[in-house]
Amino acid sequence: MVQISDVAKIRQRWIDAGSPACERHNLDQEFHLGARDTDWACLNCGEEFSRQEVRAMRDADGN
Ligand SMILES: [Zn+2]
Repeated sequence: MVQISDVAKIRQRWIDAGSPACERHNLDQEFHLGARDTDWACLNCGEEFSRQEVRAMRDADGN
């Protein structure tokens, strides 16, 4: 689990680095209160993903 405030910091750091392409998302579930569409985040680039997107990515990996 990762805090949303930490995800915001990761994303800002990634943007400051020039927003390079994230070669492999390192997904972790975001900790938050209340319902959100996006509750997964990449610990590399700070991009946020919905549960459906995460599932689709995992299916594509063949896991
Ligand atoms: Zn990423």
